[in-house]
Amino acid sequence: MDDKITPDPSCADPFDPNSISLAEALERIEQRVLPVHACERLPIRECLDRVNNEAVKSPHNVPPRPNSAMDGFAISIDSLAASGITELEQIGTAYAGKPYEGSCARGQCVSIMTGALIPEGTDAVIMQEQAEIGDSGEVRIDSDHRVGENIRDAGEDIEQGATVIEAGVRLNPADLGVLASLGLSQLQVKRKPVVAFFSTGDELVSVGEPLEPGKIYDSNRYSLHGMLSRMAVDIIDLGVVRDDLESMREVLTRASTQADLIISTGGVSVGEADYIKPALEELGTTEFWKIAIKPGRPLTFGQIGASIFMGLPGNPVAVMVTFSQFVLPAIDVLSGASMRRPALFRARALEALRKKPGRYEFQRGIATLDENNQWQVARTGKQGSGILTSMSRANCFIVLPDENTGVAAGDEVDIQFFDWSR
Ligand code: AMP
Ligand code: MG
Repeated sequence: MDDKITPDPSCADPFDPNSISLAEALERIEQRVLPVHACERLPIRECLDRVNNEAVKSPHNVPPRPNSAMDGFAISIDSLAASGITELEQIGTAYAGKPYEGSCARGQCVSIMTGALIPEGTDAVIMQEQAEIGDSGEVRIDSDHRVGENIRDAGEDIEQGATVIEAGVRLNPADLGVLASLGLSQLQVKRKPVVAFFSTGDELVSVGEPLEPGKIYDSNRYSLHGMLSRMAVDIIDLGVVRDDLESMREVLTRASTQADLIISTGGVSVGEADYIKPALEELGTTEFWKIAIKPGRPLTFGQIGASIFMGLPGNPVAVMVTFSQFVLPAIDVLSGASMRRPALFRARALEALRKKPGRYEFQRGIATLDENNQWQVARTGKQGSGILTSMSRANCFIVLPDENTGVAAGDEVDIQFFDWSR
């Protein structure tokens, strides 16, 4: 008998040759998740954060007709002498929404407001500040002006027939404004994906219940609820599921009839009470990924019927890390949009950070601006994957890539802001 134990690979190892990289996990997600098919027509206000289904083409020019970019005087450049000052007769006023109906002849001008249509017979607007009004109301203008001055052309913003919003675009507030500028009151968008989630664990108690010895409050369902509520998805909270095969089967079967995406937390490691794996093997197809990241190495990915299943680790910090890195991109694809990658910013580390090579680490940081408006970042104390207060105090992840072997105080690191940064 050997006098030493040869340990199996575990999440305590810095590097596991069987694990896949973060990039590879994202590639697999992108390949395997299919966008929802169904669409709905909604008033444009309700389309914020929803995914556009068909390219939107402009039914007309925006602006529809040439109009003034300034308050001033509409003239024909022909009226101006080649040099020196010309005096023009003011024949009327053009307001935004109330055009000047007549025509303007040589030697005449029309007082014009910003946004008013350019009167017939004129081809330039002279800024009020560049004109003088004489004692009997004549308008004096010098020769230093050109055709088209201060005129917004028809179609300057959007030309008739141009594609303004591509299919697959998640609509932002500016898009709603653009749709309104086209006069569109409704838009066809993809339906919202339905996301069901539950916690697993005999030790878990929901808030509002007394805490008996050996029990802890379930926090994962609440952080998940928070993150999902910020997205354009419909959510179903399936509560806490006991650590037994029958309960697991029952909840997965039910969820697969209701949801496009099922998320569980806990029960995916190799403990005796980890029933996700056997239940899934019975009900669907699954893959167990060990991803070279910390925290959050084990992730189950699979399918039950038409639903995607993502089994996140149990540790509360690992849940939030794997959600932000894998679930969020999966929801992007499911929604019919392209996968977003979080923006990275460079920041100066205010302290040394220990890190072993071979895996991506997401430490929790507090980023602030220094006196030169450059980002600097400190860690939020203890970094254990069960220490959820390290997340709630943080405003960003400090992202240390695979090859990084540690950071000295003063070194530059990448940070990834949370979308709820404060
Ligand atoms: P597991 O992967 O189920 O072994 O869980 C790993 C660790 O995370 C254990 O210490 C669990 O008690 C803890 N944990 C699992 N689920 C939750 C939850 N919903 N809320 C808080 N802690 C949890
Ligand atoms: Mg458990």
